Amino acid sequence: MSEERSLNFIEEIVEDDISAGKNGGRVHTRFPPEPNGYLHIGHAKSICLNFGLAQKYGGKTNLRFDDTNPVTEDTEYVESIKEDVRWLGFEWANELYASDYFDLLYAFALNLVRQGLAYVDDSTPEEIAAQKGTPTEPGTPNQYRSRRIEENVQLFEDMKAGKYPDGAKVLRAKVDLASPNMHLRDPIMYRIKHAKHHRTGDKWCIYPMYDFAHGQSDAIEEITHSICTLEFIPHRPLYEWFIEQLELFPSRQYEFARLNLNYTVMSKRKLLQLVNEGYVEDWNDPRMPTISGLRRRGYTPASIREFCERIGVAKRENMIDVALLEFCIREDLNKTAWRRMAVLDPVKLVITNYPEGQTETLHGENNPEVEGGEGGRDIPFSREIWIEREDFMEVPPKKFFRLGVGLSVRLKNAYIVTGQSVVKDAEGNITEIHCTYIPESKSGSDTSGVNVKGTIHWVSIPHAKTAEIRLYDRLFRVEDPSNEDGDFKEYINPDSLKVITGFIEEDLATAVPGKGYQFIRKGYFTLDQYSTPDKLVFNRTVTLKDGWVKK
Ligand code: ATP
Ligand code: MG
Repeated sequence: MSEERSLNFIEEIVEDDISAGKNGGRVHTRFPPEPNGYLHIGHAKSICLNFGLAQKYGGKTNLRFDDTNPVTEDTEYVESIKEDVRWLGFEWANELYASDYFDLLYAFALNLVRQGLAYVDDSTPEEIAAQKGTPTEPGTPNQYRSRRIEENVQLFEDMKAGKYPDGAKVLRAKVDLASPNMHLRDPIMYRIKHAKHHRTGDKWCIYPMYDFAHGQSDAIEEITHSICTLEFIPHRPLYEWFIEQLELFPSRQYEFARLNLNYTVMSKRKLLQLVNEGYVEDWNDPRMPTISGLRRRGYTPASIREFCERIGVAKRENMIDVALLEFCIREDLNKTAWRRMAVLDPVKLVITNYPEGQTETLHGENNPEVEGGEGGRDIPFSREIWIEREDFMEVPPKKFFRLGVGLSVRLKNAYIVTGQSVVKDAEGNITEIHCTYIPESKSGSDTSGVNVKGTIHWVSIPHAKTAEIRLYDRLFRVEDPSNEDGDFKEYINPDSLKVITGFIEEDLATAVPGKGYQFIRKGYFTLDQYSTPDKLVFNRTVTLKDGWVKK
């Protein structure tokens, strides 16, 4: 992360506020997820921004669950959100819920009713929409708009008391039916919904709308900088109107461009469809753009924070290439992942001049990027080993620097071998390769004087462990599935998951989920969180190079 990078526009605002002594120089942000799904990489952007600002300017960040819609919200989501924010490396000052303020919000609403600034409307949603007018024509007041204050107080209390069915009435703010801003044309503050809430249970049957909950929650918590995405710009005048009428703490709203990532979808509604309709295993499927999916895939918190830092904070919507995210994890894992050998498409190599039944222990370092290699591990070597099928050619062309008949190659951390002959099955497929080795060519003490151009990885057959290896590709085959004709699910990449069985170094049996391994020449992998000792499962986090080609 660059210390010297220039300020983003929100940091500029914050620094101006601090130098102007606004709020006594205090910076208090909040991250306000609705607990109706798992967090995704777009939320990570918002988390890094909100928590990052507070860290930078000695402030605080609240984690506030925006739980005003009882039908879609659940405590499972609350728990996952907390886990994900912590995993990203942030700790909140206070864990709060918009539902904590239901009593207070109700009192605020009554206050507006009593000021003549809110009224109960019996119209249907269709009537309300029609009476609202259009952006070029003003709305028309209906008969309920001129209800007497006492009547409104009584009706609103009755709404709360459960006297009316869902949808029978709403409470609306009396702002301006002619405003060019449609959000100010008497917006709905409360609706009737006889639904059990994940925290308040059956206590309430009226629930505040986003616009009457969010700003007031910010003000109650004395949030200084309330940061949201661009689509809330037209809500800002209403945000300020409520705060002014109620004479609350003057929180201010600032908007930045949401993160859009190509080859995926980000809306929780769409992600939920992928889960519910079985296109993916669950919210934490390693192909999902969710934080839990990225974690299971092997992404590190540092790589995600670095990605958010690199994309910056924009004022205009744009599409970020997922290749940048992959670049960030590659950079991180190159520095931190331990090197191991795994053969994913095996063919047997027999070293005919190596004594039968003999095993020796070779040595390999864990991480060549770090001074001292971060220690190392023992690698058993024997007469029969697995190598990759693609690393052998019976009749090698020029510039093939791997194994061939008559061609020599180094086995990583081991010896130089020379191909001699092959064994084939009835269909002509190679089932075994025979070679000889040079005993004096052992890595680290090579006195053979023989030079070879290539090095290949391998695993000793009697010592190898079997593992299921999951190779992931992009979940969608088009850049912006939400913007294509028809249903976005028609654009799912049918080859987004390939499951194979491979052979791995025995020492990988001690791997833990989240620890990154570079399978030499094959990519970065991590143990799947549901892997068991009886059935090891590794997920490919990312390939070693950006080898993705548009199909
Ligand atoms: P979705 O549309 O995916 O359901 P949301 O905005 O409804 O997202 P919330 O839980 O309400 O999800 O969002 C919590 C916070 O995260 C909000 O402040 C929101 O602006 C921010 N956020 C959501 N998606 C993105 C994104 N793609 N980029 C940046 N910030 C985002
Ligand atoms: Mg939302």
